[in-house]
Amino acid sequence: MITTDVLIVGGGLVGASFALALASHNQELKICMVESIEAASESQPSFDDRSTVLSKSSANLFADMGLWSHLSNLVAPIQHIHTSEKGQFGMSRLHASEYDVDAMGYVVDNKGLGTQLYAQLKRFTNIQLLSPAKVTSLQVFAESYQAQILELNQQKTQECHARLVVMCDGGRSDLAQVLGLTSQAKHYQQVALIANIELQKNHQGWAYERFAQEGPIAMLPLLSFQGKARSALVWTTSTSSLDERMALSDHDFLTELQAEFGHRLGRFKGVGERAYYPLKIQRSNELVRSRLAVLGNAAHTLHPVAGQGFNLALRGAALLAHNVLANTAKGLDIGALSNLASFAQTQEQDAKRIQAASHGLVSAFSYQATPIRLARNLANMVLDHCPIAKGSFARAAMGLDVHKPTTRLNSVNHS
Ligand SMILES: Cc1cc2nc3c(=O)[nH]c(=O)nc-3n(C[C@H](O)[C@H](O)[C@H](O)COP(=O)(O)OP(=O)(O)OC[C@H]3O[C@@H](n4cnc5c(N)ncnc54)[C@H](O)[C@@H]3O)c2cc1C
Repeated sequence: MITTDVLIVGGGLVGASFALALASHNQELKICMVESIEAASESQPSFDDRSTVLSKSSANLFADMGLWSHLSNLVAPIQHIHTSEKGQFGMSRLHASEYDVDAMGYVVDNKGLGTQLYAQLKRFTNIQLLSPAKVTSLQVFAESYQAQILELNQQKTQECHARLVVMCDGGRSDLAQVLGLTSQAKHYQQVALIANIELQKNHQGWAYERFAQEGPIAMLPLLSFQGKARSALVWTTSTSSLDERMALSDHDFLTELQAEFGHRLGRFKGVGERAYYPLKIQRSNELVRSRLAVLGNAAHTLHPVAGQGFNLALRGAALLAHNVLANTAKGLDIGALSNLASFAQTQEQDAKRIQAASHGLVSAFSYQATPIRLARNLANMVLDHCPIAKGSFARAAMGLDVHKPTTRLNSVNHS
């Protein structure tokens, strides 16, 4: 039987980051993380061929956990952001140098990020990692949660008692259903088609977001691989065009992409493996219960148009870690509902704000009426020429306009 302070269900990007946020600040707290897919393997959903834009505030959070020095050589800095709409004259440009920052954000490939997070987990003796293993049931008692954990290689079940359970098990959780954790979801009838694109010329740190008829096309700067310049493509595609685009030869796929995106990045020379993700907006109706908290995609899923899902989740992970560390330092019960309430309230506000902003961006650019199209272009141009509008947009893009629990992680006085 395992007895632990915190049981983390799911070791994806969010579960692993949360474990590190806790352990990097308290090496006494017992943490057990259970991940059903072989740790950081190819088939794990968090660590696939996608890339993630990390905001400045996420970089600060990782620095606060002592991780940024291990991640900084894996990321490509975004020096410039360019947004435009296909067939329209408006565009906007943002430059890191105008905001006195080294970068507007950083792009990292999920596999590299996952490998590094798992390497860091091994540094902490107070983290017990069970993988491949699955939490199959959860039952709450007054003093603890009781979990059944199935170790998949041995087909052996272990019992675990935890003072706090943190659900980081993604947006399609079986356990949430069993626990009656309901959520609201809206499907966009769109998918994000992703692939790495080899470029004729270097991207020079430019990130592009181009609003085409079916949805936005993002091209994000990546570190060169084997001397080849690359950008990560996130192509929002209607479900009806998906099969056709997936079936195209590499040559035809690049020709179609080039026609939609244009030549700002020069000629596209090659395309890596293509994958796709159905898009939805989803929010759990509860973020906390007695002895239970929900983080990451299990709590909120959003359209990747603004690249904010993981950034939002990392802020939530840091906020919850701060809460647990502060209550531990004060000798309070980390699982008591009253002690989790402030986390839930702040995270809910942040999630609502970010979801509304991402959804608003998707809706505004998918509405086809002419005056609205003009207004959109105007807004794009104002963004390029009006320092005030640009300033607030840029701060939001960098994740710097939000409540930051992170800086306080270091300020907790640990016992
Ligand atoms: C195309 C695309 C691009 C994106 N780009 C960005 C971006 O640029 N910036 C950004 O901030 N965000 C981005 N996101 C969002 C980001 O990918 C998600 O926020 C992030 O992956 C959520 O991670 P998670 O750990 O919560 O969930 P998941 O990745 O789903 O991980 C959940 C884990 O839990 C495990 N699990 C499930 N059930 C159990 C169980 N019972 N027992 C044990 N383990 C279990 C699963 O195996 C899995 O490993 C993007 C998303 C998409 C689709």
